[in-house]
Amino acid sequence: MLKNFLALVLLVSFAQTSFAHSHKFQETDRSIYLSIKLDNYTKGMKKLQSLDLDVTGIDKRNSIADVFVTTEQFKVLQEMDFNIILNKSNKAMKAVDEEYKSPSEIESILKEWERSHSDIAKVFVIGQSSEGRNIYALKISDNVSTRETSESAVLFNSMHHAREVMSPEVGLDIIETLITKYESDLKIKSYVDSNEIWIVPMLNVDGNAKVWSGSSMWRKNTNYGHGVDINRNYPHLWGTCNGSSGWTWSSTYRGPSAGSEPEAQALMNLVKDIRPVFNISYHAYSEIIIYPMGCNGSRTQTKEVVERIGKEIGKSIDYEAGTAWELLYSVDGSDIDWMYNAYQVIPYVIEVNSRSEGFQPSYSKWRDKTVERNKAAWMTLLDKMTATGVKGRLDETYPNPANYQIEVKDSNGKIFQSYKVNPDGSYHIVLNEGKYTFTLLKGRNSISTKSMELGSARLPLTF
Ligand SMILES: [Zn+2]
Repeated sequence: MLKNFLALVLLVSFAQTSFAHSHKFQETDRSIYLSIKLDNYTKGMKKLQSLDLDVTGIDKRNSIADVFVTTEQFKVLQEMDFNIILNKSNKAMKAVDEEYKSPSEIESILKEWERSHSDIAKVFVIGQSSEGRNIYALKISDNVSTRETSESAVLFNSMHHAREVMSPEVGLDIIETLITKYESDLKIKSYVDSNEIWIVPMLNVDGNAKVWSGSSMWRKNTNYGHGVDINRNYPHLWGTCNGSSGWTWSSTYRGPSAGSEPEAQALMNLVKDIRPVFNISYHAYSEIIIYPMGCNGSRTQTKEVVERIGKEIGKSIDYEAGTAWELLYSVDGSDIDWMYNAYQVIPYVIEVNSRSEGFQPSYSKWRDKTVERNKAAWMTLLDKMTATGVKGRLDETYPNPANYQIEVKDSNGKIFQSYKVNPDGSYHIVLNEGKYTFTLLKGRNSISTKSMELGSARLPLTF
């Protein structure tokens, strides 16, 4: 009897797998946009992800997920008794408001701002897309043409995903606020004078061009025709925890190899070059803040700092903060996981706008509201550049600074972080209030140890 039962279980699970698979490979055109009420949010989200559906956004408080599906996937959802509460397919067909920005508009806006504020704004080309479009960054700082090793960097990037047209608006608003209030607002002036602030307002230029040519729900880049989800392509734990798809037409296709995509490479090279202390990656929608790590159950080594600041930023704009697997589902190959692990950046994702506003809300109704609300978040982050932590620089008596580490121990003598000194000798370690000891290490050799008690303000640390 037991044997028969096991055989039946095996048969059923095999049938389900091949069923989902055969559906996946037949149809590639999504046209149906649905809202689903989930009885059990966490289990429901896992189920949707296992079906390899395009989950476009959520309303966690009300346990609702939006999906954009093919007619075959729609049938599967109906057969599986998902509680479909709203068909908003007409929304997916709607043309995008003209006021949102195209790649060429981003280019001319940035160049105009560089021209009108050349003392504090400078445009950089950080890479080219597979279709050959330039990917732009704007640096804002005093002495903007100089790399000032005494100033720490912070990065804001927008639009990994093409259809999330509100995300560049937030990046542009950060720039506009900083350059237009520089002379009149002392707080803004100190952000600009004491940091090197980098903004990449539109990473996925090819995908966005496709959105403007009629595919308003396009998410990935356009490489190989089917495109790649740039935010599943980064080389930390790439494709390891079912947090992405190997199916080329999936909305979360991870690409042919880790770091294969030119857009991911452009951002990686920028991060490697500027070594930001913090990053925010802007997406839409769901009104949430995501911090690393993305695979189910995993957290950062320095979670006490990463998660505290993430929650503070969330509180400043009333967005819920958590890991991707707490708020959505597992994610692998994301930019924030890579940034944290490769270059000890403290990185966040902010998903702007709510489910009711979706990807492309009315520009006149929602643009200003959204960027205004989000100001508190990026300003909270910039405030953290001078808050609890230590900063300093190894002088010329330490050649090859990249060979040094600073081991940070908490008051219980436990290693909190092994911080790698930047190649230019600078270091900026963000911490919580309390007592720490800092040991400068070269390889395993201890060079010097300092003990300090940290309060709410950043302190200098010298060896
Ligand atoms: Zn996104």
